[in-house]
Amino acid sequence: MRYLFGIIFFLGCFHIRAQVDSLRLVCKATPVNYVWPNDLLWMYRQRDTLKHHGAAINLVVAIDGQQVSLIDSSSLKYLASLHVNYPALDSLYASDLEGEVNAFSIQKDSLLAQVSKLGWSMRFLQAVRNLKRQQQLKRAGRSQVLLSFHNFNLAADVGLYSHRRYLRRSPRYLRMGQIAKSLGMFWGGDFVGFPDPGHLQRFRNSAALITQYPILAFEFEKYRDHYEAIYQRNIMHQEKVQDTKALLITLNRLKVGKLCACQQAIMPVVNPPAEDAARVEVNTGQNWVFIKPFQSNGYFYSLGRWEYATKN
Ligand SMILES: [Zn+2]
Repeated sequence: MRYLFGIIFFLGCFHIRAQVDSLRLVCKATPVNYVWPNDLLWMYRQRDTLKHHGAAINLVVAIDGQQVSLIDSSSLKYLASLHVNYPALDSLYASDLEGEVNAFSIQKDSLLAQVSKLGWSMRFLQAVRNLKRQQQLKRAGRSQVLLSFHNFNLAADVGLYSHRRYLRRSPRYLRMGQIAKSLGMFWGGDFVGFPDPGHLQRFRNSAALITQYPILAFEFEKYRDHYEAIYQRNIMHQEKVQDTKALLITLNRLKVGKLCACQQAIMPVVNPPAEDAARVEVNTGQNWVFIKPFQSNGYFYSLGRWEYATKN
């Protein structure tokens, strides 16, 4: 019995000391024996933030001096995504999201039928939107995010009309939203901080989407800095950024344990190849990764794994 108390006491202390910060990951240098080619694309993305925002033309992927060709389906999608500035996400991930897009389309048809029964005229204004347009809207202050459900064809904007005149504001949007929710959709009028009564989406938030389709985390990862900035800006008004917080926590949960390039660049280990192409190379014997964005300098980093930072 005494031992049991001792163990419980020990675990209790351990728990307090090791309380993790689910919002913050650190890359901890670790010897790595084996890597999947897919890991290299994640490490490339880690450095390929909005700061570079250059497309990774002809990205060369190499492990221990050997160039590898990527053939698994998620790697091919990631490669295609890295290859251009504004990937068409709806078609890139069409095979993953087909069921959701179809189900959303049925929900939209039912909504249209039910709203029409009220004698109201309604039209879907926009469904799928490309990334470039999304980012223009963000800059113009008409959207809060750089990546939206519209980009995956999982959102739609509704216009209600009276005598052929578009209603910008009307209590009818509330009724339309109620019907949409009864059909299982999520209504923009419920958004805290940035309500959008004409907007509908298939999932509650981005965290719900990537929990169900982890492959998509790769796309949100690109905008991590942006989401972290939104969260930091609203740290005193957490109720406004619950979805952003949930997204960051979900991204981190999917990333813990994966390979990473440690924060500080290290001295060059070998002479990097003189080429314009983007390159990511791992050396498991010497435990480094070399990352070079397109037409830019490459740097060496120690290899590590993501782990949660601890709270002080
Ligand atoms: Zn919308």
